[in-house]
Amino acid sequence: MIRVGVNGYGTIGKRIADAVLLQDDMRLEGVAKRRPDYEAFVAKQAGIPLYAIDEESYRNMKDSGLEPKGTLSELLDKVDIIVDSTPAGVGASFKEKYAAKRVKSVFQGGEAPDVAEVSFSTLCNYSDAFMKNSARVVSCNTTGILRIACSLHNEFRIKRVNAFIVRRGADPKEYKKGPINSVIISPPDAASHHGKDAKSVLHDVDFHTKAVVVPTNNMHVHFIEVKFGEKISREKVLEVLLRAPRILLIDAKRTGIVSTSQVIEYFRDLGRKRADVPELVVWENTIHVDGDILSLVQAVHQESIVVPENIDAIRALTGTSSDATDTLRRTDDKLGLMKRIE
Ligand code: NAD
Repeated sequence: MIRVGVNGYGTIGKRIADAVLLQDDMRLEGVAKRRPDYEAFVAKQAGIPLYAIDEESYRNMKDSGLEPKGTLSELLDKVDIIVDSTPAGVGASFKEKYAAKRVKSVFQGGEAPDVAEVSFSTLCNYSDAFMKNSARVVSCNTTGILRIACSLHNEFRIKRVNAFIVRRGADPKEYKKGPINSVIISPPDAASHHGKDAKSVLHDVDFHTKAVVVPTNNMHVHFIEVKFGEKISREKVLEVLLRAPRILLIDAKRTGIVSTSQVIEYFRDLGRKRADVPELVVWENTIHVDGDILSLVQAVHQESIVVPENIDAIRALTGTSSDATDTLRRTDDKLGLMKRIE
């Protein structure tokens, strides 16, 4: 059994904790949190051992009626690996602490790449993280771009990926974030960091990404254009994407699903916990091929897409699955990921 801890029990951390609980080769030893907010009560009510990050947060938790088992230091004494899911930029401040306790660590995409030995995306570079001490799972948008790129690159030779990213303005719980009524060019020159991040994982492909932020909290949407080194066919692309793990093909004509709202509602109706969509959603009808150029539209559920990759990163760092195929099968089976709406 791999003994796992999670530091930061927010949007990403609580989902990773739940996914760890589903795996038959992992045991969740506990989660650490800074504040005694409602998400701490969620952990308590779920029966997950709760730890405070330090003495002050321990006292605050006790005063709020939570029953912390101890502090992060004590949690680190119990685990083989910690998944850091503290806010962007905060994870790096824990790096030395994890290393001092000789605990392996998985960081999130909000950290700078140098926080870990390798930036990670299962379909692209599982073996690069094998038995390393630390890995950084790339951000939600980069995970979506790399899932499509590596699924195709493993079959054809890709030269370049252009992605126009329509980013969600906030997560559903973020009541103070916007925009409410605007489309923001972000960053100011529109050239988002995702291209550089994707290239740091898949070195031999050029990535160019542009982004705007819009008033929605469901999902991000990507307009993808891929240039191959040879002519391809739509049929072959469809065949590859149908075989590829973690990609859900949606036929808009057959299902009537033409929006991110309906994707989320579909999974809400199915009773998926938190209406999560860890699959990368690709609209089948948007797949067009012209010679050596492919274009398609895909959607990324920002709150959950990185969860499967975090589970794989745990197996890679601890050497539990010797190749990506094994962990992909185990993770996706336990999470109940789908390929098509039948
Ligand atoms: P969040 O704010 O929802 O959760 C952060 C958690 O860390 C909370 O439990 C908070 O109490 C705790 N925390 C805050 N300050 C802390 C500190 N100093 N020490 C310890 N814990 C502290 O954040 P999130 O959205 O889950 O993001 C976590 C990471 O995942 C970030 O790197 C982010 O970039 C990345 N990420 C976020 C998303 C997303 O859409 N939310 C998607 C992919 C990756």
